[in-house]
Amino acid sequence: MTTVATIADLREALAPARSRGDSVGLVPTMGAFHAGHRSLFRAAREECDTVVVSLFVNPAQFEAGSDLAGYPHDPGADAVFAEAAGIELLFTPDAAELYPPGYQTWVEVEELGRRLEGEHRPGHFRGVATVCLKLFNLVRPARAYFGQKDAQQVAVLRRMIRDLDLDLELELRVLPTVRDHDGLAFSSRNAQLTAAERERALALPRALATRDLDSARARLAGLDVDYVEVVDLDPPVLAAAVRVGSTRLIDNVVLDKEKP
Ligand code: AMP
Repeated sequence: MTTVATIADLREALAPARSRGDSVGLVPTMGAFHAGHRSLFRAAREECDTVVVSLFVNPAQFEAGSDLAGYPHDPGADAVFAEAAGIELLFTPDAAELYPPGYQTWVEVEELGRRLEGEHRPGHFRGVATVCLKLFNLVRPARAYFGQKDAQQVAVLRRMIRDLDLDLELELRVLPTVRDHDGLAFSSRNAQLTAAERERALALPRALATRDLDSARARLAGLDVDYVEVVDLDPPVLAAAVRVGSTRLIDNVVLDKEKP
């Protein structure tokens, strides 16, 4: 596996794949890899000739004074994980590489980006959409891989891809949510939970598994709930965000399918 941190090195590392006419897959991530990431890596490897994983904890999608500083970060372990998953190219830019001095261009998916997560994390999807568009432009993938765990993120990016006419060149691929043995969806943030908090956090998947808004609300009653809602995305989901201690967790279940 080759690891590159600059745009110039990324271009150079991708040149052979481009001249071969390879189909390139991109998996955008913020690192602290787990089984959810592995599922995206595997799908990308199966469907594309060359796979680029980006690892960038995007400051633009965190509110000022939020949990950016505490976000799990272990680039060494992530490199080992990505290599073991058969990834060829790991792109690990720093913030100045993607947002150099003078940077001032942003993508805003207006209505979709303001609801739910956008309401509780103002500016979040502006940061997500902008960094994803930049990554799409840098890597020019035929397919980009995202998790259903972040269902609203998928909807926002799908809208951006359509609105900015990227859809002829780029296919957005969405993989199902991967859960731990106790039902909790894998998340980099799970590492921040104490054992007691993790036990309390299990109310989230259990509530969503009812696939019923009222039952879910009742099961989440003891927790600090940002929202629990049926959301008319494609596919429709029952989605929730809760805070357990200082950790914020989101999850959803698809409503028109048998399994999450
Ligand atoms: P992150 O590194 O948390 O930004 O996630 C990178 C990608 O992995 C996003 O597209 C997420 O939706 C996806 N992802 C995160 N957790 C899971 C999970 N438990 N199952 C499936 N995909 C996931």
